[in-house]
Amino acid sequence: MSANCLFCKIFSGEIPSKKVFENEVVIGFHDIHPQAKHHLLFIHKNHTKDITEMASDADALSDVFSAIASFTKAKNLDEAGFRVVTNMGRHGGQTVFHTHFHVLAGEPLGPFGTYKSL
Ligand code: AMP
Ligand code: ZN
Repeated sequence: MSANCLFCKIFSGEIPSKKVFENEVVIGFHDIHPQAKHHLLFIHKNHTKDITEMASDADALSDVFSAIASFTKAKNLDEAGFRVVTNMGRHGGQTVFHTHFHVLAGEPLGPFGTYKSL
């Protein structure tokens, strides 16, 4: 738990969220500004600031991706498919500095990214 971290407070329940998945170490909840028909965020209990910091914790990565796999399978989102995104830093557009994984699903998601070739 990191002081003044929004997602640590969501994990502990101090700040409310609409949970879709919960076990001892991972929660999934609705993003407040959905960017797709289904837009969930998955986070681990252990605070890390971004994916580069979380990268050395293989157990935590497995916990989160197993949770995403269970959730999407239970909701039958795996057959049509979905997208998992983690933003990192300024160019990545990260705004909350507790590593989180966006799960976007429920409709065709269109092209990935905003790169425009010359
Ligand atoms: P990112 O920009 O990748 O750091 O993603 C942060 C995400 O957190 C954004 O999509 C926000 O809409 C979402 N968000 C911010 N505050 C909350 C909150 N209290 N509950 C749920 N989602 C939130
Ligand atoms: Zn945190």
